[in-house]
Amino acid sequence: MFRRLVRGPPRRKAWPRSTVRGWVSHFCRIPLLLVAVAALFEAYLHRSHLAVQQPEHELDEPFATSCQEPAVDQPREKAALVMLARNKDLAAALKTVQSIERHFNQWYHYPIVFLNDEPWSADFIATMNATASGGARFEVIPKAEWTYPAWMDTSSAQSSIAEQGRQGILYAGLETYHHMCRFYSGNFYNLEALRDYKWYWRIEPDVDFYCSITYDPFVELARNNKVYGFTIALNEEPSTCPGLFREVADWKEQHGLPTTSLWRAMLAPSWVPWPFRSFMGRFSHRNRDGDAWNMCHYWSNFEIANLDFFRSKDYQDLYKHLERSGGFYYERWGDAPVHALALAMLVPSERVHHFEDLGYRHDWYYQCPANAPGGQLPASEVLNAGGNGDPSNWSPARPGGIGCRCECDGSKTRNYATYCLHRLRQPNTTQRLGLFGWLYSWFW
Ligand code: GDP
Ligand code: MN
Repeated sequence: MFRRLVRGPPRRKAWPRSTVRGWVSHFCRIPLLLVAVAALFEAYLHRSHLAVQQPEHELDEPFATSCQEPAVDQPREKAALVMLARNKDLAAALKTVQSIERHFNQWYHYPIVFLNDEPWSADFIATMNATASGGARFEVIPKAEWTYPAWMDTSSAQSSIAEQGRQGILYAGLETYHHMCRFYSGNFYNLEALRDYKWYWRIEPDVDFYCSITYDPFVELARNNKVYGFTIALNEEPSTCPGLFREVADWKEQHGLPTTSLWRAMLAPSWVPWPFRSFMGRFSHRNRDGDAWNMCHYWSNFEIANLDFFRSKDYQDLYKHLERSGGFYYERWGDAPVHALALAMLVPSERVHHFEDLGYRHDWYYQCPANAPGGQLPASEVLNAGGNGDPSNWSPARPGGIGCRCECDGSKTRNYATYCLHRLRQPNTTQRLGLFGWLYSWFW
């Protein structure tokens, strides 16, 4: 009241608002622009720093680029085909075994180890014994390895699983699926049933092999100093594993592990400039620095790998750490991203092999290479055995094709080539996709 009555000295005329804004913008425009440019430049430098370097030459070539006479007299590796399945999967499991026998194992006769969390039915055993040319073993997984970890509060894990199911997270409402993913991430490698083997080839019910595999992939992996081979790479469903990447990335930092080229290939470096970038680290799928995992991984229903890598202290320590964090149950971490992130962190890229010459299908994803012109050995009696000798079943050969007698769904010859496949191959190849190539890889 008082203030209203007593008039103060006449106020200086205020600048009109628009003029003030004009001055501010006049003086600030240049510094603001400089800050923006510097921020963009900093983000660019940061991203370049994490870019995948182009190697000087190819670091991972196919083991064969046409049919070979199978080297049946050559010594085998200590290796087995391994299938985890249930008794009720018999029909689909048989389809897989028939396919791999026809396209590979009829020449090399590796044993097949069947794993189940329950006793095998007589029917399953009889059917597979009659089909597996290298012999079959029927193993029951010890109970302790197909359940919750002893330290875990089972009822809280179960209610989390139920909640994940309600949220519609892929397979996350199934308790057994969590057990399966945890099993394949860690305990699998230390199974008594696999103790005699150094290599495994993982197969699953309902899988097709499309091409003749005329060399021994175990021998070739060993000869080429590889630890892991894959066919298909794709991106993980983000809702299954919000905390996984951070857990692995923190482990990498705590142990002072170097950033390998494969690790770079797994990253989607942030565009947010310093010092704000680290705030991004609060979001899921990001490391402490704020950089994201691009969700790429190898699809683990097919993998041919060195058991000793996964039995190593480095891998097992990481697995135990991940297990201890609870993410196999409180989230639905898949074994595929666990394997892939571990490889990216622990192994030089050239020790991972892409079997681009193999035809493979599971669910609706498949890879089917074009056949090699002039490389089909049509007169080979060994290759013609077992239902592979009718050229009218083979897809047409094409220039650049490397397949052996691939039968890609009649006339279709196609490679499954996603963003992730290109991205995870980058550390090992001099080939780079142009912009159109990338767009194509997204929509193909
Ligand atoms: P997806 O490939 O992620 O869709 O998962 P699948 O349902 O194919 O399971 C992966 C593998 O684990 C397959 O070999 C299945 O046969 C096997 N599997 C999954 N759940 C169980 C289970 O409860 N018991 C057994 N014995 N095998 C299982
Ligand atoms: Mn599957």
